Amino acid sequence: MGVKLTPKTGNILEESANEDQTRLKIKPTAGVEPNPPHPLSPTKSWTIEHSEKLYRIQGWGEPYFSINAAGHVTVSPKGDRGGSLDLFELVESLRQRNLGLPLLIRFSDILEDRIERLNACFAKAIARYKYPGTYQGVFPVKCNQQRHLVEDLVRFGQPYQFGLEAGSKPELMIALATLKTPNSLLICNGYKDQEYIETALLAIRIGHKPVIVLEQLEEVPLVIEAARRLGIEPILGVRAKLTTKGTGRWGESAGDRAKFGLTLPEILNCVEQLGAAGILHSLQLLHFHIGSQISAIGVIKDAIREASQIYVELSALGANMHYLDVGGGLAIDYDGSKTNFYASKNYNMQNYANDIVAEVKEACEARQLGVPILVSESGRAIASHQSVLVFDVLGTSDVPSETPVPLQEKEHLIIRNLWETYSNINVENYQEAYHDALQFLEEAKSLFSLGYLSLTQRARAEQLYWVCCHKILEIARTQDYVPDDLEDLEKTMASIYYVNLSVFQSVPDSWAIDQLFPILPIHRLDEEPTRRGILADLTCDSDGKIAQFIDLRDVKSVLELHPLREVGERDSSPIPNSPNPKSPIQNRQSKEPYYLGLFLAGAYQEIMGNLHNLFGDTNAVHINLTPRGYEIEHVVKGDTMKEVLGYVQYDSEDLVESIRRSTEQALQENRITLEESQLLLQNYEKSLSRYTYLNCQ
Ligand SMILES: *Cc1c(COP(=O)(O)O)cnc(C)c1O
Repeated sequence: MGVKLTPKTGNILEESANEDQTRLKIKPTAGVEPNPPHPLSPTKSWTIEHSEKLYRIQGWGEPYFSINAAGHVTVSPKGDRGGSLDLFELVESLRQRNLGLPLLIRFSDILEDRIERLNACFAKAIARYKYPGTYQGVFPVKCNQQRHLVEDLVRFGQPYQFGLEAGSKPELMIALATLKTPNSLLICNGYKDQEYIETALLAIRIGHKPVIVLEQLEEVPLVIEAARRLGIEPILGVRAKLTTKGTGRWGESAGDRAKFGLTLPEILNCVEQLGAAGILHSLQLLHFHIGSQISAIGVIKDAIREASQIYVELSALGANMHYLDVGGGLAIDYDGSKTNFYASKNYNMQNYANDIVAEVKEACEARQLGVPILVSESGRAIASHQSVLVFDVLGTSDVPSETPVPLQEKEHLIIRNLWETYSNINVENYQEAYHDALQFLEEAKSLFSLGYLSLTQRARAEQLYWVCCHKILEIARTQDYVPDDLEDLEKTMASIYYVNLSVFQSVPDSWAIDQLFPILPIHRLDEEPTRRGILADLTCDSDGKIAQFIDLRDVKSVLELHPLREVGERDSSPIPNSPNPKSPIQNRQSKEPYYLGLFLAGAYQEIMGNLHNLFGDTNAVHINLTPRGYEIEHVVKGDTMKEVLGYVQYDSEDLVESIRRSTEQALQENRITLEESQLLLQNYEKSLSRYTYLNCQ
């Protein structure tokens, strides 16, 4: 296999993935890869290299994210071209500018680098295979419609005649007003009515190059009629339903019963209708989209092969074919495992470009046909890296771990049994001890229910049970192989980290489709993370949590984290010459702030976020790297309470008025003092203009 396609990757990319790799993620086997020293078996020698390995930052973060000597995450927004900034220090300085957490930080330079990379990969593939055509990509606006981002994209894309793709009428409005690059494509997808079609056609008159992609047969007569009426010659495309199916989450986007696109008989019908209307020469583009985050390169190759054949056939039927649009699907390696796992991909951007270029060239050459201009609609691959969400931890809740008081005389048998189990746990018997402890706990519970055990005794039994679990887990973690029955212990013993964030607003895909995103502390990475936890958000919803984390093999159910620290409490061996990371900001309960970063969430998350519990948009800033450091290009303040209340039709003045009336009444009935009533009103009014998240400054 792979005689002609053994792509060599360029130097701007990570190393090449094997062709047609079908590596599956597997459970750990002993000795596959050295593990970092184990958390909870604290080592003095923890280094940032251990953190790099633990959080897999090179796997998913290169070349943009890494860890510096101070143990902070650094961002190199220009990729390999140099310049970096300390993310922790950036967050501290933004907080001093009154930008509260959670905070979305967008790095425009990363966006620029992604566009350059994609174009460079296609340029390289075109040179390598001597492809006698060009590549002209478009950005699908639906991935991130924020104005600053789309404007940046258009600007960065100018040297490559990069265009935009719209999937709805409002997105068409954005594209028409924002796209200024001569000769770039404006791909018009989605359901279309007469207004959509007319607008797209008229866009030709103001210098755009809109391609109306026919996705449904009903659209064909609408387009023919509108073109005739306006006297404008359209540029048309067809969206094909391929037989090749994607895999994973979006596998159903393709195939014969897919939601979008025309089947082959429908495409023929469309060709006939256009021919009868005398505008078959307007049909210039073939489009397909087999889904997002296609993890396996084999699937992409199959789709290109199928589409290339449809392309040459359409040409043979008399269409004036010029463009082949391969849609989206270019995946992101969220877990850095370079596998065909759904959160990863077994190919890189260069492999992707190579395969498209080579397959299309071969199909066209076989029929002695000129090659098309290649178009891709890569959204996820362009927009994911550019933003980082930083949020703080409000507090933690742990399972009991205090050493129990020694066994007293005449304690209940069940307590004595538990004590004995606890005292004798060792490497040989830890699995058996776990089952004993579990059984004794169950017995203690039923004894309590039957009235044979006091509340104090039952509490003591529970405490003994938990310390048994601690001891057992410590042993289990040092073993190469963890028995199946102990697998859930890690989850059971996990701490809960309460975070200042709404999963529904900021990472909806984590909640809705269990998508994985890399998460790690952005500081203290020179220090061993001795805790393991899950994240619980601010919403009053039991789904408002993150309890799945990236791992080399499969998925982790807990994340390694640091214990919260009192202000002023530092580890005894600070790194020489590192800036003092001690924060001037006091966390509540005088805890030092602990910041977590969530990465690669720049595509789809922002617009799909919702107002569950009325947590609004987060603050967002745009950061540019400058020769002297960085500059804050834009600040987009998050929603205030007044704004989110307005979305659900509450008028803030009416609300204040209603509270004022209630306090007035209470004053008259002597239920409240004048001072109290003023305090209540002031707080209420002030809150309305505040951020919807907790303020821990
Ligand atoms: C969503 C979508 C895209 C973007 O896909 P990515 O996988 O994010 O690159 C491209 N084209 C169409 C038609 C889409 O619906």
